[in-house]
Amino acid sequence: MKIICIGRNYAAHAKELNNEIPEEPVFFMKPDSSLLRNNEPFYIPEWTQEVHHEIELVLRINRLGKNIEERFAHRYFDEIGLGIDFTARDIQNKLKAKGLPWEKAKAFDRAAVIGGSFLPKSGFPDLKAIHFRLDINGKTVQDGNSGLMLFSFDQIIANVSKYVTLKIGDLIYTGTPAGVGPVIDGDVLEGYLADNKLLDFVVK
Ligand code: ZN
Repeated sequence: MKIICIGRNYAAHAKELNNEIPEEPVFFMKPDSSLLRNNEPFYIPEWTQEVHHEIELVLRINRLGKNIEERFAHRYFDEIGLGIDFTARDIQNKLKAKGLPWEKAKAFDRAAVIGGSFLPKSGFPDLKAIHFRLDINGKTVQDGNSGLMLFSFDQIIANVSKYVTLKIGDLIYTGTPAGVGPVIDGDVLEGYLADNKLLDFVVK
């Protein structure tokens, strides 16, 4: 399986990092070795001084598809989950400044946290109004709503599948809302999708 992550999909987040609003989805990938499951601890690698949390809604692809039309894209996922796209921001900024790929900052081990359970899409009354949030040590630091995404789930699937064949089990992290920031040793991270706590783990 592969992990596809959408960048700059919320205007307020693009702005907080001084990035332009994209005209089509920006995406990058993480390998399966970056997955962190079962609320295991996240260990800050020794080579970075600044790891940021990015809470994101995650789609799990349930059928094979290539060049998917937007009007059929909803058939390619039936569950929504919650994850964190951990980012070594100091490393990413250095790489970006040189025009180099971001992989070292995004694809490292444990950088793709995924909640234990996915919720059926049918349980959400409106896919354009899904609320999610990240709390650190009991305080809400990111408060997101899918209605603020620049590109909808269907637009993301249509666009990404122009370039990359989607396979069963692939995960798409759909971008982070504003409020990203560093995590430190001892932080307790709790992620909520609607009112369901799907993430609860510590940083070491
Ligand atoms: Zn992200």
